Amino acid sequence: QGDLQDYDSETESVCPFCGVGCLVSLKVKDGKVKYVEGINGPANEGRLCVKGRFGYDYIHHPHRLTKPLIRREDAPAKGLNVDPGDLSTHFREATWDEALDLAAKGLMDLRAEDPRLVAGFGSAKCTNEEAYLFQKFIRHGFKHNNVDHCTRLCHASSVAALIENVGSGAVTATFNEIENADVAIVIGSNPIENHPVAATYFKQFTKRGGKLIVMDPRGIGLRRFASEMVQFRPGADVSMLNAIMHVIVEEGLYDQSYIEKFTENWEAEKAHLAQFSPEKMSDICGVSPDQLRRVARTFANGKAGLIFWGMGVSQHIHGTDNSRCLISLALMTGNVGKPGAGLHPLRGQNNVQGASDAGLIPMFLPDYQTVTDAGVREAFTQVWDSGDFSHEKGLTVTEIVDQVYAGNIRGMYIQGENPAMSDPDVDHARAAFAKLDLLIVQDIFLTETANYADIILPASALYEKNGTVSNTNRQVQRVRPAVPPPGEAREDWSITTELADRMGLDWGYRDVSEVFDEMKLNMKSLDNITWERLKTESVTYPSLSENDPGQAIVFGDGFPRAEGRARFTPAAVIPPDEAPDADYPMIMTTGRQLEHWHTGAMTRRSRVLDAVEPEANCSLHPRTLKLMGVEPGEMVRLSTRRGSIEIMARADRAIAEDMVFVPFAYVEAAANILTNPAIDPYGKIPEFKFSAVKVEKIKDP
Ligand code: SF4
Repeated sequence: QGDLQDYDSETESVCPFCGVGCLVSLKVKDGKVKYVEGINGPANEGRLCVKGRFGYDYIHHPHRLTKPLIRREDAPAKGLNVDPGDLSTHFREATWDEALDLAAKGLMDLRAEDPRLVAGFGSAKCTNEEAYLFQKFIRHGFKHNNVDHCTRLCHASSVAALIENVGSGAVTATFNEIENADVAIVIGSNPIENHPVAATYFKQFTKRGGKLIVMDPRGIGLRRFASEMVQFRPGADVSMLNAIMHVIVEEGLYDQSYIEKFTENWEAEKAHLAQFSPEKMSDICGVSPDQLRRVARTFANGKAGLIFWGMGVSQHIHGTDNSRCLISLALMTGNVGKPGAGLHPLRGQNNVQGASDAGLIPMFLPDYQTVTDAGVREAFTQVWDSGDFSHEKGLTVTEIVDQVYAGNIRGMYIQGENPAMSDPDVDHARAAFAKLDLLIVQDIFLTETANYADIILPASALYEKNGTVSNTNRQVQRVRPAVPPPGEAREDWSITTELADRMGLDWGYRDVSEVFDEMKLNMKSLDNITWERLKTESVTYPSLSENDPGQAIVFGDGFPRAEGRARFTPAAVIPPDEAPDADYPMIMTTGRQLEHWHTGAMTRRSRVLDAVEPEANCSLHPRTLKLMGVEPGEMVRLSTRRGSIEIMARADRAIAEDMVFVPFAYVEAAANILTNPAIDPYGKIPEFKFSAVKVEKIKDP
């Protein structure tokens, strides 16, 4: 890393990994980022985790895509079969003009046949402006809403429940509000690994006496700081949360005046909860009645309580019901809209909040304005100077892949997403992508998805971009280019603009700030947030004036719903889609680990991170390993009804004896070959957190 003072330039930007949104200073020497340090952003106050601190060098990796590529006519059949070090067996280099003309012609030919033959996946790793342009590209260019991104695999069910019950899909309080709380719940989230800088605030909270209640089927690292660790049975979340709320009702611990002033449907919720006594639910959720009662009292008796949740809550077929329970718990205890209180789904990707806000979802335009409303569509088509587009909600990620497989969608434009690694039952997704007549992939590396591409457009990493991103706290922050994209690679917004212009959409943006200004025309959330302001500050939305840094807490005086009231929606118990049985007797759950990010495209090309975690691994309880005769470090075979992988086993006492945890970053043992594509009926999110699995020792040769 050399002398830290010996650099040519210094640029402030935002970490490209998780939704915490840490601000960074990038030190550049000889055209390369050499060193990254945390600076004083509102979410990180100078802190960084190992990914932010050391995971920057992927941007200079020799595998970066530097020229547009077109699939060779004599290329082998489409499959996961391209050597990232030698693309010439499958692709030939092209000029930008040739690649963009070919892409535009292919899309227009399909559109002439039927616009619904084309769909798009945008990216939560791109900027707000790029997400906005991507959804506009499909809606303006193809007149329908078949556009989505990885929020579908992440917090779609949380957003569905939040919009339904509090009228907004974002957090009601920043995570830093934990400074003002005296009790907090962290459920279905492993922040020490997945939101490490947020976790430092949670730890500090406990050091000054805050009561931390951690709930998870895995005994995650944060348990060391918890006053209660509730290790419940996988899939039993709704039973457990209803039992906790049952106690609050039974013991009269709810906030009657808050409920009367700010909510609706309380009587129905109360009646529903009557059947969930801790004594009845204890065996189902694997938690003692005493602990359920203790947790209920601790949370309800706190003066101000926050609820944080992650994908352990959302990635179930009952993910929306899980979130409904958490919302009800906060509402009945009056824990929304005051300092130290609120609802906070910890967002995963660095810009999944912003991409969702920008309308990169099939049912909503920017600011969650529904596509079914003619007035809303008109407001956008006026700005876009275009005709109307479909009033029907579009297809989601997994629905689009199913339609590709069925041959009803024949062309896709995928920007910065890697569904050939991230989709559930990923062999099905890969088989679908192999069938496409036209797959345009815009990315920085030859991802697994790009293996199936017909045209590859080389794009830029976040540290090469100009624009804005929005973190889990609703903080809008500027990203700035520390270095230019390598070779002929370009920023994503300019590629999408070029493609749109070649399709006759006549966008003509010259600078990304023009896109931001256009977004503001129909996004009230950006009121008082200007490009000029963002040059020098991060602004939390909503911001009430140009001098207001933004509201850390919202809904203190009512909710953006009818009559300003939030709603209790009772949650029934829906069991996991597939129960363990004689053939598949254990439960598999998937997730991330500290050093690797999502499908591994970036972090596995980062020298330090890959050196720390170089090998695909799964975690099992030591007793489970012993029963199987497997030593830690040996290989096991994991099989589900979808397929099998072979993977190195680790011992982890924090995991239940009938469970296995598998990170999904490793292509050589892709966890998503195994996962269940069954989806939540509301948020349409797949059940990544529960698959029935068989674990076997691999016999010595
Ligand atoms: Fe980056 Fe998240 Fe780590 Fe902050 S906590 S440095 S945003 S990965």
